[in-house]
Amino acid sequence: MNRTFLSFYRTLLPSTLRVLSGVCFAIIFATAQEQIPYYAFTNVHLFDGVENAIKKDVVVFVANGKIERIGKKGNPIPRLYQVIDCEGKYLIPGLMDVHTHLDNLAAARRALETGVTTVRSASVPAFQDVALANLVKTGQLAGPDMIPCGIYVTPKLGETILADTRLAPLLSGVQTDDELRLLVNVNIDRGAKVIKTRGTERAGLPDTDPRQQTYTLAQLRVIVEEAAKRNVPVMVHAHGDEGAWAAVLAGARSIEHGTFLTEETLQLMKERSTYLVPTFSTLEDLTLPGGDYDGPVLHLRGKFMMPMAEKVIKRAHSLGIRIATGVDNNTHPTARRA
Ligand SMILES: [Zn+2]
Repeated sequence: MNRTFLSFYRTLLPSTLRVLSGVCFAIIFATAQEQIPYYAFTNVHLFDGVENAIKKDVVVFVANGKIERIGKKGNPIPRLYQVIDCEGKYLIPGLMDVHTHLDNLAAARRALETGVTTVRSASVPAFQDVALANLVKTGQLAGPDMIPCGIYVTPKLGETILADTRLAPLLSGVQTDDELRLLVNVNIDRGAKVIKTRGTERAGLPDTDPRQQTYTLAQLRVIVEEAAKRNVPVMVHAHGDEGAWAAVLAGARSIEHGTFLTEETLQLMKERSTYLVPTFSTLEDLTLPGGDYDGPVLHLRGKFMMPMAEKVIKRAHSLGIRIATGVDNNTHPTARRA
């Protein structure tokens, strides 16, 4: 693929790397092989994500969509390379958002413009993530590389039943082994590269208890094993500990949210190299007036959940559990999910 994504960060300070998102903007080059696939980014300061330092005034050489080498200021630039003067801006690796509900063209563009060059979908209503992934892959759309998951493997599909005619047998629910397998396979047939399923109830509805387990260990095993037959990993939404524990045991690749994880579950995650995707910023939306989650129940819930999640994240970090970032929205400025 002859596309190069590089994010330039205007105001990066070495000590405040957590303000990365939102201030970045991305330059996208969608070129055909016969066009110039060689670039030299000059007059740029580099944060490479490996060293905790900024490399000042470097030249970044890119060939065929890959970073070839980092040169020093004043290094000769072969004529083959198109020079991009970055005017003293900062360059960082593309950001990854591993829990989004990105489902439209504008959101894909917005994600890229905020420096996100890879996203992993955490479900959409009608396979929009698969379509977006294809458009980006074929160079027709400026957007982040996408790992689509298709539709949610969840007990009640609701309107999502309309996403594919093969889902008709699931109108009354997704509970039995055959039903679970059918949904996993329809997703993979349609192009899902990861399966998203549910270990516990939602946090963002006042009448559901996010601590309550939904799918059992046996059901989660069916999902993981069916997906594994086609080399597809499974991500599991789980706030509550019982659901998360079952998900880790079943072989989930990642636990999404993980608000109420206990020491025992965290230890199991460490042992099994399960990722944690805390989506912490979305919990804050519960506590704030306005936004998608407004109302007295959700305010109280958010206030209860935030300190718990903070404790879990700190403990996971100290145990060396792999933590990945997910914003859990569709990159619309006001839309959020939990
Ligand atoms: Zn989500």
